[in-house]
Amino acid sequence: MKQQIKQGFLNVKADINGLQDNVAVLESNNNDLREKMEVLRTAYMELSEVVLQMSDMLNNTELVASRSGKRVHTTKCPFTENIKEPRSFESVAEAMTMGYTACACV
Ligand SMILES: [Zn+2]
Repeated sequence: MKQQIKQGFLNVKADINGLQDNVAVLESNNNDLREKMEVLRTAYMELSEVVLQMSDMLNNTELVASRSGKRVHTTKCPFTENIKEPRSFESVAEAMTMGYTACACV
């Protein structure tokens, strides 16, 4: 009987040690996941910023060309500085149907 009780305690002690090891592993995994989540959160924030900037660029892009020229530009392109009476377009497709090609700035 005493032997069985002793063995029972030893089994419980071994179980507790095993559980503590499992908890330590879980805590370690949890910390790894938190670090990875933080990296992902940072990457997500950076990407969101880029997407916003690109969206701004797309929405605010005015397209212009000189009446005698062959290329369509954004208004920020240095080639537009000397255009006296620019012709403007809603889209690159519109400019292309009128015989213009897109500058690298577009
Ligand atoms: Zn251009």
